[in-house]
Amino acid sequence: MERLQKILAQAGVASRRKCEELILAGLVEVNGETVTTLGVKADPATDVITVKGKPIRGEQKLYLMMNKPKGVITSASDPQGRKIVSDFLPGIKERVYPVGRLDYDTEGLLILTNDGEFANLLTHPSHHVPKTYLATVKGVPHGTALEKLQKGIKLEDGMTQPAEVEYQDVDPEKKQATIMITIYEGRNRQVRRMFDAINHPVSRLKRIRFGELGLMNLQRGKYRHLTPKEVQELR
Ligand code: URA
Repeated sequence: MERLQKILAQAGVASRRKCEELILAGLVEVNGETVTTLGVKADPATDVITVKGKPIRGEQKLYLMMNKPKGVITSASDPQGRKIVSDFLPGIKERVYPVGRLDYDTEGLLILTNDGEFANLLTHPSHHVPKTYLATVKGVPHGTALEKLQKGIKLEDGMTQPAEVEYQDVDPEKKQATIMITIYEGRNRQVRRMFDAINHPVSRLKRIRFGELGLMNLQRGKYRHLTPKEVQELR
C-alpha cells in the first residue's frame, strides 16, 4: 500500500505536488470512490485508480528472468513455509507468475510475468519453445543410451519428442556425467523422467536457456527485467 499521490506521480500523471492538488480537487477516484484527502493509501497492483475518470497507466506489464536457486518453490505460496520465488524479487510489487515451472530442486532460468497471454503462449504445447538444461546424472551414459533420448523415449505419459543431447563433462572418478539436453516440451519433471528411463537419474538440474534467452552470468537468486527485444524474440 502506498500513498495515492506517490502512486500517481510514479505512474507519470504529474509531480507529486501537482498530484496532491488533483486529489484535493476531487479528481481522483480509487475503486469508484472519490478521494479528497491526502494520506489515503492504495495498492497500485490491485486498486483501480482514475484521474478525471481515466485509469492511470494500466497495470504495467512486467517481464523478468531470475536464476532460481535449488530449494525454492515456483508456486505463489507454500503451506509448508518453504521459500517461494517472490522472496527473490525485492522491489517488484506486482504479482508475477512463473512461465512454466521448475521443480523445487531444479535451478536456473525462470521467466516471470504478469502478462497471462504471454505466459500461455510460451507454455502452450503447440509452441515448442526449446529449453536447455545441464543435467548431472549418476553414472556415465553410453552413446546408445543418449540416442534413445535423441529419438524420443517412452514415458508413462507417452513418447517424448526428440531431444538434443551433448556430453558436457564426464567424471569417471565420481561416476557421473553432465549432459546438455534440449527439449521442446514442458511436461512435469520431464528431464528427470527421461534420464530415469535410461537408468541414469539426475542429481543436479539447471536450466540455462529458454528459447532465445540464455541465463548468461545472472547470479543465483538474482533477477533482471527482460528487454523489449528479448520479450519480442520469445513471442
Ligand atoms: N525437467 C525436470 O525434470 N524438472 C524441471 O524442473 C524442468 C524440466
